[in-house]
Amino acid sequence: MRSGRTLLVVSIITRAGVVLLLCFLALLTNYHNLKQAYNNPRLVELSEGRPMRVFYEKTDALFSAFGDPAEEAQKNGGMTWSIRIGGIPFTDPVAALSVLVKSHRWELGFGLGLIIPLSLALLFGRVFCAYVCPASLLFFTISRIRRLVAKFFWLPECSLHRGFCWGILAGGLITALWIGHGVWTLALPYFALGQTLFHGIAYGGISFSLGSLVVFGLLDLMMGRQFTCRYVCPTGRLLGAIGSRSVFALRHQAGDCVDTCTSCIDVCPMKVQPKFDETRDCSMCGECLTICPTRCLSIGLRKPLSKVDSISCHE
Ligand code: SF4
Ligand code: SF4
Ligand code: SF4
Repeated sequence: MRSGRTLLVVSIITRAGVVLLLCFLALLTNYHNLKQAYNNPRLVELSEGRPMRVFYEKTDALFSAFGDPAEEAQKNGGMTWSIRIGGIPFTDPVAALSVLVKSHRWELGFGLGLIIPLSLALLFGRVFCAYVCPASLLFFTISRIRRLVAKFFWLPECSLHRGFCWGILAGGLITALWIGHGVWTLALPYFALGQTLFHGIAYGGISFSLGSLVVFGLLDLMMGRQFTCRYVCPTGRLLGAIGSRSVFALRHQAGDCVDTCTSCIDVCPMKVQPKFDETRDCSMCGECLTICPTRCLSIGLRKPLSKVDSISCHE
């Protein structure tokens, strides 16, 4: 695959789809409540008004296509870090670790939900970040705003040690032992976004997780492009480590590369250096493929371990 533009468009569409899915799942809470309380469109209209009746009827019709609407609706739901879609569970690896540390037991449903995210990482590396994570769409937008602002004002490009995320993961796990899993709204941007959407749509209120989102957004705007993803979010670091030897990866044809060019390094939001065959933390977003003047970057089966990778794997 050489078309970075196609990858970029696909990544925007899939992430927007995930945001819409989260909104739908939040609305589903209202449907569950209406089903339990009234189980009748006319009663829903009398009690909640006409728009709710329309919503109730449409959702009912949607799930009726698959079977009993109440049962089918039950197969879908959850929050960003543990979701069921059509009965198939998806679990965030950090959530699984957090539950394991806190409850000291491994729940089968939670464990099964790890199969798809971990398989994705083992096959394609950190693609979750570019194609699934709803928060990354926010950071993608902020990076465009930052680029625009940087034309008029100087903005710093700060960096931290990559291991900082591991510290946040360890600190979050320890804190979760004391105050519960809610601590992850302070460290996981997609969790904060999911909570914010859920509270806004299901309860019509503002969650304190909105404050976390604002902080993450400001970090990205003021400290550096996708600063939060590179130095704060432990999920990205974890998936990057799991997928560090993924089956598919970014490939670089050194023979076609221009010695004086550094465009791929400059444009990469994750600060990967494709020019030097580095692939760790690559989310396959496609930005470097779009900008490469000689089209010497592509995505395909991973090349045998290079010297740079072997060094960076031991960092
Ligand atoms: S690093 Fe975290 S917040 Fe950023 S894109 Fe990946 S999972 Fe989402
Ligand atoms: S190296 Fe960077 S810009 Fe290129 S695909 Fe990977 S994450 Fe995107
Ligand atoms: S953008 Fe292309 S030509 Fe330029 S350094 Fe990167 S791989 Fe080489």
